[in-house]
Amino acid sequence: MIGTTGLIFNEPLLWELGAPGREAFSQPAREVPEQPVDPDLTGPGPDFPDLSELEIVRHYTRLSQWNLSVDSVMYPLGSCTMKYNPKTNERQASLPGIASAHPLLPEAMSQGLLRLIFDLEQWLAEITGLAAVSLQPAAGAQGELTGMLIFHAHHASLGRPRTKILIPDTAHGTNPASAALCGFTAVPVRSGPQGILEPQAVADLMDEETAGIMLTNPNTLGLFEANIRQVAEIVHAKGGLVYADGANMNAVLGVVDMSAMGVDVLHLNLHKTFSTPHGGGGPGAGPVCVTAKLAPYLPVPRVVQAGERLAWRSDFPLSVGRLHAFYGNFGILVRAYSYILSLGADLAQVSRLAVLNANYIQAGLKQDYHLPHDRPCMHECVFTDQRQLAHKVSALDIAKRLIDYGFHPPTIYFPLVVSGALMIEPTESETKETLDHFIAAMRAIAREAEQNPELLHQAPHHAKLRRLDEVKAARKPCLMG
Ligand SMILES: *Cc1c(COP(=O)(O)O)cnc(C)c1O
Repeated sequence: MIGTTGLIFNEPLLWELGAPGREAFSQPAREVPEQPVDPDLTGPGPDFPDLSELEIVRHYTRLSQWNLSVDSVMYPLGSCTMKYNPKTNERQASLPGIASAHPLLPEAMSQGLLRLIFDLEQWLAEITGLAAVSLQPAAGAQGELTGMLIFHAHHASLGRPRTKILIPDTAHGTNPASAALCGFTAVPVRSGPQGILEPQAVADLMDEETAGIMLTNPNTLGLFEANIRQVAEIVHAKGGLVYADGANMNAVLGVVDMSAMGVDVLHLNLHKTFSTPHGGGGPGAGPVCVTAKLAPYLPVPRVVQAGERLAWRSDFPLSVGRLHAFYGNFGILVRAYSYILSLGADLAQVSRLAVLNANYIQAGLKQDYHLPHDRPCMHECVFTDQRQLAHKVSALDIAKRLIDYGFHPPTIYFPLVVSGALMIEPTESETKETLDHFIAAMRAIAREAEQNPELLHQAPHHAKLRRLDEVKAARKPCLMG
């Protein structure tokens, strides 16, 4: 084909571009006399391609366009909160005094950075309603591990270590994994027909061998655990603690007070709720928030007010220790700080819009897709492929076809309690027009499923790579597609 009408998918390697002698920059004319060069330093250089600057810019720009990203399309990946991350937060994180600060800078020279950590801890405490915060854990899962270590330390300090943790069947997979890593046995609790926990199910399992419960509110079905206070009372009455996985905090920012719900420990995912790009395995932050009673167990070092100054302190004898080198992933903390500061009281509006958008999609799709729990949702809604399965079209086929319509697919086959799940989280960032386009695309796919299922089995049709062998792609990845 001559020319192109859009995305260029047949991009050559850099070595196949360019021509010998071509350069991407020119050096200024020499102003000093020529000097002989040590022969050891000359000779054939590495086999780098010879390219112009424009060839390089276009090459990488084209490669970047093969991926769907939050900056290019709606990315409704349930349980992941792929919201738009305002660029100003990136700018603040790359200010030279922040980006090039060394973690071994003496305290006297890093008072501003310590202030940022101290203030962010206070703000997260206020947002969650809990008393004390450590910003050290590097991801949600590491926050969970920290929380489980705190559970263990609390029971051990009472002289009665406990062995089990209750975990609802809607939990994210990291929850039982973190509990097990800490030596606890995860005991699943079945959700009721409404998709939420029933107090009696918890009461039947809670005993004095059980360290507590680990739940997510709203849960991974996007439903609010309305019985949380009764559940917390049952757990507390048997001496247990309540852990809340706060990865779904985008639904309840500034609206729900976690401590009033009976939560003792909670982690946040700054890379989901507080504006850090994620999804590529990059750095994250999973701060842990606790009640005043559990503050002595938080990881060290902790930043404290010492007279006029802020200082690091590690002399907390009950602390679970250190979870990360230095103080956590500082760049992520800066983004969260900037995001909270720029939104202020509008943080509650973030959650209201996230919930409104998810309900708008839920209402717009329920004629065409099976909705297992037909009641208002929080920040995400969960459909299934049940109706399309009649035409041998699965959640996977629907997800792949969405790529052709210019949307990142939603999360599929999770949560595990819903067979053939399609879990959609639009976030607060999207306009009504984009939500309408998404609904129209999903409805068009539902019609295609009836009329031309083969079209969906072969999707995506308009992507760099077509249908992958998912098993082979995971076991034998070949990154030169
Ligand atoms: C994303 C997520 C986690 C894990 O967070 P990571 O930062 O990926 O370790 C835990 N629980 C829930 C509900 C999540 O959505």
